[in-house]
Amino acid sequence: MSSFLPAELIKKKRRGEEHSREEIDFLVQKFTSGELPDYQMSAWLMAVVWKGLSSKETSILTDCMRRSGEVLDFSQRGKFIIDKHSTGGVGDKTSLILAPLVACADLTVPMMAGRGLGHTGGTLDKLEAISGMNVRLSLTQFRAQMQKMGVAIVGQTKEICPADMKLYSLRDVTGTVDSIPLICASIMSKKLAEGLNGLVLDVKYGNGAFMKTMADARALAMGLGQIGSDNGIQVRALLTNMNQPLGTHIGNALEVEECVAIMKNESSPLQADTRDLTLDLAAHMFHLAKIDGTLPESRRRAERYLESGQALEKFHQICSAQGATLKWQLPKARHSAAVVAPSAGFVSGFATERVGLASLEAGAGRRRASDSIDYTAGFVLHAKIGSRIEKGQLLAEVFGQNQNLVLESQQKLSSLIQISPEAPMEEPLVAETLLEDTWN
Ligand code: URA
Repeated sequence: MSSFLPAELIKKKRRGEEHSREEIDFLVQKFTSGELPDYQMSAWLMAVVWKGLSSKETSILTDCMRRSGEVLDFSQRGKFIIDKHSTGGVGDKTSLILAPLVACADLTVPMMAGRGLGHTGGTLDKLEAISGMNVRLSLTQFRAQMQKMGVAIVGQTKEICPADMKLYSLRDVTGTVDSIPLICASIMSKKLAEGLNGLVLDVKYGNGAFMKTMADARALAMGLGQIGSDNGIQVRALLTNMNQPLGTHIGNALEVEECVAIMKNESSPLQADTRDLTLDLAAHMFHLAKIDGTLPESRRRAERYLESGQALEKFHQICSAQGATLKWQLPKARHSAAVVAPSAGFVSGFATERVGLASLEAGAGRRRASDSIDYTAGFVLHAKIGSRIEKGQLLAEVFGQNQNLVLESQQKLSSLIQISPEAPMEEPLVAETLLEDTWN
């Protein structure tokens, strides 16, 4: 490996000049091995936040991060290898249904998911609400389950993208998380390490998403898709609405409950967005894998797996393979409180990010990495944007094990749901779809 003076590389990026592959490789390798100290990497990261990275540099950074650890290979199954990534939202629980549903078509689905981040929940925390469920599989256990079932939902292991693990912790405490190239490299290095053939991105925009505008979400999607394409995987991106929580349930055990209701065909009309978005994402995954000739056929396939109960059966199989008993249970909250409408009218909006933060403060998430979670904590919405309501009607319920937190959250949540005399304009759930030819 070529050698460079770290301070010269920091100054080069500070001037906004483009790095070579050798320079980026040097930074990533030396940082991962501990030879490049945090203070130099932090300075370089801050220079990147200000000056950006070209699309070529971002692809190289992603590749170097991917190669910092093990790169998985599930090709021996002989099936298309596919995953989904969501940029995160409130009540975004689609992965819990999507992994089993897509596995029904015998695709290979090595779903490496994350924990709650900021105001958003995480798939791993939701699954851990299920008694006995183990998402901390070792690499050997992950490989064995993939060999046996073709699907697993697990956390990132220490062998996969160690550079990202270290970089992400450093970015978190140095104010360098919100940089599109750094976000893209972080997300895509982990996805590329799964050895995927295809990836469907759910890039969220709106007041409950990290990207508040559709333009920013599109820029993020373009960055992610380009890296995937440069590294030989087929990527589609859906830009989806996060101006209100997805579905009705927010919080770990509660979100599992909503997913099970959907997989049992017992969901309510207010949960149609969770169901529809999951089916849309699944349809794109099937179509990308070319198991159907057209997208509508793929959508019908997804509906069949859901409505026939096959997706639910596969979900139970995944849970049982990952340690849950056949009759697994969800913990029940000891306390609840009702939020009622202060006036009649229409629900016209949610302060969605603050709803996510309120659920975290109610116990559903962590303030610090070491915090424990109250898996029962969270909210159930009884009205969504466009619902007509009467004064005193139930808008939402708050749940949790700690009565004080439940009562505090009841006050907060009530101030985060807007009511207007007029019916609001309807917004589409999927605003835009970027197909794989977008990145050529
Ligand atoms: N998720 C990631 O994995 N990395 C980021 O940088 C942001 C979100």
